[in-house]
Amino acid sequence: MVQRLDETHDPARRSWVDSANGHFDFPVQNLPLGVFLRGDEPRIGCAIGDHMLDLSAAAGLLDPAWQRALSQPVLNDWLAHSPGDDRALRRRLSALLSDPAQRAAVEPHLVKQADVAMHLPVRIGDYTDFYVGIHHATNIGRQFRPDQPLMPNYKYVPIGYHGRASSVRVSGAPVIRPNGQRKRPDETEPSYGPARRLDYELELGLWIGRGNALGEPVPIGEAAQHIAGYCLLNDWSARDLQAWEYQPLGPFLAKNFLTSVSPWMVTSDALLPFRSAIPERPAGDPAPLPYLDDADDRATGALAITIEASLATAAMRAARTAPHRLSHGEADAAMYWSAAQIVAHHSSNGCNLSPGDLIGTGTLSTANDDGRGSLMEISQGGATPLTLSNGEVRSFLEDGDELILSAWCEAPGAVRIGFGTCSGIVMPAPAT
Ligand code: CA
Repeated sequence: MVQRLDETHDPARRSWVDSANGHFDFPVQNLPLGVFLRGDEPRIGCAIGDHMLDLSAAAGLLDPAWQRALSQPVLNDWLAHSPGDDRALRRRLSALLSDPAQRAAVEPHLVKQADVAMHLPVRIGDYTDFYVGIHHATNIGRQFRPDQPLMPNYKYVPIGYHGRASSVRVSGAPVIRPNGQRKRPDETEPSYGPARRLDYELELGLWIGRGNALGEPVPIGEAAQHIAGYCLLNDWSARDLQAWEYQPLGPFLAKNFLTSVSPWMVTSDALLPFRSAIPERPAGDPAPLPYLDDADDRATGALAITIEASLATAAMRAARTAPHRLSHGEADAAMYWSAAQIVAHHSSNGCNLSPGDLIGTGTLSTANDDGRGSLMEISQGGATPLTLSNGEVRSFLEDGDELILSAWCEAPGAVRIGFGTCSGIVMPAPAT
């Protein structure tokens, strides 16, 4: 079912919260949900400009039927509501934050974003990471199999693996360099010590809203309705640990030491103006199998999201110089499979998804060199180190480096909305 735009997407709509008008991430057309700490207490909030609205404090202004779910310390109960409630909440928040007559009632419940810390927006039951970035898969595959970078299954199966939910953290969490087993090609035996090839992966995250019962797959035509919203996701990766451990069962300790997500859940409703047709598959590629094919998804399943990664070294931060931009590209051109195809495939065997499950798209790299989504690609496995804007050189991340992901959406006739950032600073490995 294709959703329609409504008054909440009107580019002429303005907020009485001055900082929202022209805000690069959080104008009144966005209204992402998140969880912040008021003292020690996690509370659900909605971003508006430089502020957020405390939804439990403002519960009296909202539908009483929503009160219990919106007064919880995480969004899980809210995510189990119907998509109709998502849209009704969005319309109510948009009205409260744009109608000057509501200002006196709403303003006391605003909190300045700079004054509070953010928290994970949900209690994550399960985390799955996909591999739908075809240019990333090709770039990485070429380093190991120059003649056949993509495995034969890639264009039939949205490839994924189950990740680790316990180590997902909100943006800003320290990135402690993991210790692990490493073995360079010139070494005969592995040793245990700090990862020497620490990397990031630029991904989008999908937050599951309503789940599905075990044994009942989500049909592709309904899959988009199960995605409550999106975030930025950094799948921190220790490439040397990965190279030594990954065969035959895939990623393990090279990935599960930390995954970072941006704090704000940009809702599927907010992204409606930025939907477009899925890019045509190259001639000769197989058509998706019927359980992954849907006319509405073909027509509107791509999301015009611009994604960027930047690096601020300790020296750059000390000198107050701007971060070095590592990559810039478009998510929809990077994704061989749509978000709906990811959800339909994940549940196609009857696997049950639950409200608040997190799904990563996989690293999103563009076809050209400007949009490579990991240092493994940028430095070609360390063979071509990168010279940064201040003259420093990197093949992989060093202690003190801050990696910053950002994303935003632009389309004709729509107000730009953004995701905020997802960042982390690399800390030294614990002594072994
Ligand atoms: Ca990944």
